[in-house]
Amino acid sequence: MIERQLEARGIHDPRVLRAMREIPRHEFVPPADRYLSYEDEPVAIGFGQTISQPYITALMAECLELRGAETVLEVGAGCGYHAAVLGALAARVISVEIIPGLAEMASGNLKRTGLNRNIEVVCGDGSTGWPGYAPYDAISVAAAAPEEPASLLEQLKDPGRMVIPVGPRWDQELRVITKSQGQIHTRLATYCRFVPLRGGEGWP
Ligand code: SAH
Repeated sequence: MIERQLEARGIHDPRVLRAMREIPRHEFVPPADRYLSYEDEPVAIGFGQTISQPYITALMAECLELRGAETVLEVGAGCGYHAAVLGALAARVISVEIIPGLAEMASGNLKRTGLNRNIEVVCGDGSTGWPGYAPYDAISVAAAAPEEPASLLEQLKDPGRMVIPVGPRWDQELRVITKSQGQIHTRLATYCRFVPLRGGEGWP
């Protein structure tokens, strides 16, 4: 997975590569599909949701340029794998999941693997952020929004970075949004296909 899916496609941050090498991805995939854990594709995790393709998780993590001292908001915990990767790269992760069964699965997986030390999974609508711990040094959104949610931009620190897929169901842009000295700068990381972001600032 590391060499062929990540390094060969340009992922080079050594901290991201180490986190992805060390975190047992199979522990986050439900038993029936566990044999697909290291394949180059998203895998079903129940409730109509998926764990992202490894390359996408790595790319999103790399785009945030985390150095270890940050507080990160993740929107869309799913099975908790991406939160585990972010937890290895930052000081603290708050991961919001809208489906109660998945929020439970994510916290269970993180606890079982002993990776829950600096990660808190909360259940609710993360499309409007999670004001309790705001502002965040970095925000990682794992579901596609119709447009960049204003609440998330507000809850992003200055300086800060957000990575978010934006666009309709089958055709989205993965955007990296940088806030610096009061200015917002956006760049396209890649084209992608995520499950929809639901909730107040997501899709109905
Ligand atoms: N981060 C996961 C991927 C999860 S898929 C990984 O490790 O690969 C995206 C998740 O976003 C789904 O679990 C979905 O239920 C969740 N989601 C969708 N809209 C949401 C919202 N408004 N708030 C929080 N989670 C949301």
